[in-house]
Amino acid sequence: MGDVKIGLEIHGYLNMENKRKLFCNCKIDSNAKPNTNICPTCTSQPGSKPMLPNNDAVEKIISIGLMLGCKINNLLIFQRKHYSWPDLPSGYQRTMSGSFGMPVGLNGEFLGIGIEEIHLEEDPARWDPISGKVDYNRSGFPLVEIVTKPDFKSTSEVQTWLKTLLTTLSYIRAVDKTAGIKCDVNVSIAPNFIRTEVKNVNSISSILKAINFEVERQKKEKNNFQQTRAWDDSIGETLFMRSKESAQDYMFIPEPDLPVINIDPLLVKKIALMIPEKPSEKFMRYKKMGVDKTDAKTISSEIVLAELFEEVVKKINPVFASKWFRRDVIAAINNLGMDYDDLKVDVSNLVDWFELLQDKKASPVVLKELLPKLLKENLNIKQYIEEQGLESLSDMDELESFCKEAILAKKEAVLDFKSGNEKAINSIIGFVMAKTQGKADPNKVNSIIKKLIK
Ligand SMILES: [Zn+2]
Repeated sequence: MGDVKIGLEIHGYLNMENKRKLFCNCKIDSNAKPNTNICPTCTSQPGSKPMLPNNDAVEKIISIGLMLGCKINNLLIFQRKHYSWPDLPSGYQRTMSGSFGMPVGLNGEFLGIGIEEIHLEEDPARWDPISGKVDYNRSGFPLVEIVTKPDFKSTSEVQTWLKTLLTTLSYIRAVDKTAGIKCDVNVSIAPNFIRTEVKNVNSISSILKAINFEVERQKKEKNNFQQTRAWDDSIGETLFMRSKESAQDYMFIPEPDLPVINIDPLLVKKIALMIPEKPSEKFMRYKKMGVDKTDAKTISSEIVLAELFEEVVKKINPVFASKWFRRDVIAAINNLGMDYDDLKVDVSNLVDWFELLQDKKASPVVLKELLPKLLKENLNIKQYIEEQGLESLSDMDELESFCKEAILAKKEAVLDFKSGNEKAINSIIGFVMAKTQGKADPNKVNSIIKKLIK
């Protein structure tokens, strides 16, 4: 790709526990009918004043800052960023960025990429340029903006980093995963590194396309200059908007309706104590336990899964548990179409499931079949197995008699196997499994049959 510098400004919607907007008590509900969650403040009616910023938003943004290794400022100052657009009836957006800026977090670092700053701001309304209609439901939603240093050198680096960032932020449930991200991307190339800012790129795949397009465009451009461009997804190109605006164009002023907010260092300490281990740290720790790389990566990519896994391995061998976790537990959750956050399973029942499996108290076939019920209805698995008489068949004489019966019933398969078709044994094992309603251990059955027909 040559010598390239790429930086990102990432906007995400904060995942608010109290579902309230940033400066008023209106509800956050992205499915509500247009203009139903509004009030004089979020529609900027004359004389309306903002409330103090939502505490939940302030705490979430501090936790994001800490997760990204930022230094947290002890003062928060909101400013008015002026511009005139139908989505902004007040004529200004309240933000912590800008000329007199005091962002929440500064000078962080995440996976080798510098974080310039992170700050909090309000979302404007949603304006439809075709109908001219404005929906104010979204007006005043709290947004986080994460500004990186131009440290990325390739699209693949951007892609991996963004995915890991989203996983990491989902660990602290700080960002609304369903709402997506909006990005501004800046790109410049050697030798002069004249920066182009590409506005409003709204998915990871579009971000990568926009970067590739800009690199090629800048290579061809003889008289390149600093500029702002817009990404057009439909044609896959960036389009010229304006030569680079300076901060002055927005006429930033400190917001006179809001006081400077002091952040108590004790609050920061309290939040820091609640910050979980990062996915990358979990990944490394799992690998040290002997867990395979793919298993470690998959399990650490989802906090709910990681938390369950860590409880399970207090009693179960981690390598054994991780295999079943990655293949069967995840598959069962996906088949149920469940969100990880909606899992009802009590971890002690899941530990019991693994114990039955590890100690061969019940056969894998029976246990796999019961897994969805366990995850969805929090089945007391040990009790259920006992009540239903589903313990594995451990009586060798009994197993052997089932195998003899199968050998008589499956004569052709036996001949096939003897003539070298290894796979033919599966239908003989299948016969035993059906007869025992899955309660036999297929590995045991396999070795008994082999012994008997040798
Ligand atoms: Zn409101």
